[in-house]
Amino acid sequence: MQIPFLPFWHPKTKSCERCGFYFEEKKEECPRCKGLDEKQIEALLTEESEIAEANSNLGWLFIFFAALIALLLLSY
Ligand SMILES: [Zn+2]
Repeated sequence: MQIPFLPFWHPKTKSCERCGFYFEEKKEECPRCKGLDEKQIEALLTEESEIAEANSNLGWLFIFFAALIALLLLSY
């Protein structure tokens, strides 16, 4: 599958079937999860989704403050 409009997409990359990491096609093994067993991959992915969740909360906080600042500027 190729998604040309995504700037980070590189045609010579493939996604790992186990952990979803993108790496060069010429590499035979995923550099991220090689040597890990299923449980370790699961822990890795869980950790990552928690980080993503924390980041999305941070995103909302940022929008909140941006709105607050905009309101302050408008009240002058
Ligand atoms: Zn992998």
